[in-house]
Amino acid sequence: MNDDVPTQPTPKAARKPDLILLGDPADRPAPLVDSFQRRITYLRLSVTDRCDLRCEYCMPERMTFLPKKDVLTLEELYDLATGFIARGVTKIRITGGEPLVRRDIIDLFTALGRRLGHDLAELTLTTNGTQLAAHAEALARAGVRRVNVSLDTLDRAKFAELTRRDMLPQVLEGIAAAKAAGLKVKLNAVALKGVNDTELPDLIAWGHAQGHDVTLIEVMPLGDVEAERLDQYLPLDDVRKGLAQRWTLTDNSYASGGPARYVDIAETGGRLGFITPHTNNFCSGCNRLRVTATGQLYPCLGGGEQVDLRAALRSDAPETNLAAALNEALRIKPEKHHFRMDSRGASPAVPRHMSMTGG
Ligand code: SAM
Ligand code: SF4
Repeated sequence: MNDDVPTQPTPKAARKPDLILLGDPADRPAPLVDSFQRRITYLRLSVTDRCDLRCEYCMPERMTFLPKKDVLTLEELYDLATGFIARGVTKIRITGGEPLVRRDIIDLFTALGRRLGHDLAELTLTTNGTQLAAHAEALARAGVRRVNVSLDTLDRAKFAELTRRDMLPQVLEGIAAAKAAGLKVKLNAVALKGVNDTELPDLIAWGHAQGHDVTLIEVMPLGDVEAERLDQYLPLDDVRKGLAQRWTLTDNSYASGGPARYVDIAETGGRLGFITPHTNNFCSGCNRLRVTATGQLYPCLGGGEQVDLRAALRSDAPETNLAAALNEALRIKPEKHHFRMDSRGASPAVPRHMSMTGG
């Protein structure tokens, strides 16, 4: 093992042999470059598909979750992350479902956090914030510096209706705790027609006043939900036009390495991002792969392509099989996502819910 790389702690259960694919730099496995010459440096790793909210645009009230036995252990998740790091992934975002509802998840953050400053540049989290108050300090101790918190409304009744759970106070407490722990918070809001459209300026102004960046997201047709997708869809081009009548927006060249485009708002003094899969395709700069909690790799959020990493991990030759599986993912990663938002009553473009791949 490379001396630079700290030994990883053992999350609770006994470990099986490590899969660390590091060695002499000359022997390092090839970087992850897909067939469109996009270099993959970013892994979104889902640690559970379960959640304590039921956001209407994400999942139905009676959601069928994956059987627990199919979900990777924390050790397997760590080994998987290690396999990606060995191939040049420098940023990992832990996501879900709600990652903070997974028992002992802080152990995974702590283990991966030990690699920060060595072969990992950034470890982050996307969360709904309900459990953040309890975990913010531990996350900061583990080396997390930035968190994305999803917040679509500041209206408690609307929040309860939209998420089907009355937990806005806990989320606000979680956001405050994250700030107090020194974490940089970015608020993500899905723009929803007839739900939060009129409230978006207040949400943005509130976020900026708290010192948080805010990003708006167009709803995507992932998984069957009870609502009609087209009724939810609010094109962000329209939102931006409305905001420009109220505020002074200036394009900002800030690039997070992701699909968002940013503006500065003079009056609020904050930065606002737009993630627009429909009104502006952003796939040409895609630098990421997504893995579900059961180890299924989806090379594209908006596509059905899939590679089974769990089978590789649990095989007799995990290193070889994982390397082959990653190569296959690179081969089949499509040039663009396939989802569209133009027909009413259509079955979802992608059958899996966002809670499987974690956004
Ligand atoms: N539970 C965590 C949370 O809500 O932040 C992490 C997982 S959640 C699936 C990740 C992000 O996906 C959230 O910002 C959520 O709003 C967004 N999301 C879920 N379903 C979506 C959809 N159909 N279209 C667009 N964004 C969606
Ligand atoms: Fe849960 Fe996040 Fe989906 Fe909402 S968006 S139901 S918080 S996984």
